[in-house]
Amino acid sequence: MSQLHPLLPIEWEALKERFDAVQDDIHREMLAARRNPDEIALLAVSKGQPASKIEALTRLGQWYFGENYAQELLEKAASLANLPIRWSFIGTLQSNKIRRIVEVAHEIQTVTNLRHAHLIAKAAEECNKTPFPVYIEVNASNEESKGGIPLSKTQDFYREIQRDLPALQVMGLMAIPAQEYADPPAGEPVIVPEIYQSIRTISRSIGAGKLSLGMSGDRRMAIEAGTNLLRIGTAIFGPRQPRNASSPQKPI
Ligand SMILES: *Cc1c(COP(=O)(O)O)cnc(C)c1O
Repeated sequence: MSQLHPLLPIEWEALKERFDAVQDDIHREMLAARRNPDEIALLAVSKGQPASKIEALTRLGQWYFGENYAQELLEKAASLANLPIRWSFIGTLQSNKIRRIVEVAHEIQTVTNLRHAHLIAKAAEECNKTPFPVYIEVNASNEESKGGIPLSKTQDFYREIQRDLPALQVMGLMAIPAQEYADPPAGEPVIVPEIYQSIRTISRSIGAGKLSLGMSGDRRMAIEAGTNLLRIGTAIFGPRQPRNASSPQKPI
């Protein structure tokens, strides 16, 4: 196991403060939306963040972490192997990385085609990890640049998975909306975008009916729309290391 770079007391304090604040905000916003605060999961998105901060968050009771890049996930999972972390893969999938991801992750949220679904199912069988939880990633903004299946095709796609791949457990839909969807300033009322409502409606008929929607910048709208899973990175951790800087998870 590689050595963890310990946090300075001031870094620990800042992380704890942000994490507490995010949890309090979510609790309050769930109540404001007349929802049961127990009915939402918080995925701490740790891409571009050092393993030492992940370890620190486990000491505060956070065990569910999301990563976007296979290599980074594998390195962090190895250096934190002594902790019972639940890793969620939320990045763009590449066929040749799927086997390794399935080995360490507890779920994959970014299934966008049948070829990948078959590879995940095969890997899950080989690793004795069936049924393996997955989400279908929906293209919420119909942007070419974003991955995901058009909302109108998700039900057919789900039926194909259900018919052919019993090794997968479809949890529901995952969506990354366009950047233009941002919460209003604090204190101003939240208006749920129509696309969030459409995604919520369809998600109820997909697998376990869960919805993974909402990041640091659109959390309130997602809660109001009925999300079950928030994927929060910067609001918990602070800014990320830029992707091309020297390997972010290693202390310099
Ligand atoms: C990076 C990322 C997040 C977290 O984004 P923040 O704005 O830092 O909260 C959530 N979901 C996905 C798919 C991401 O890639």
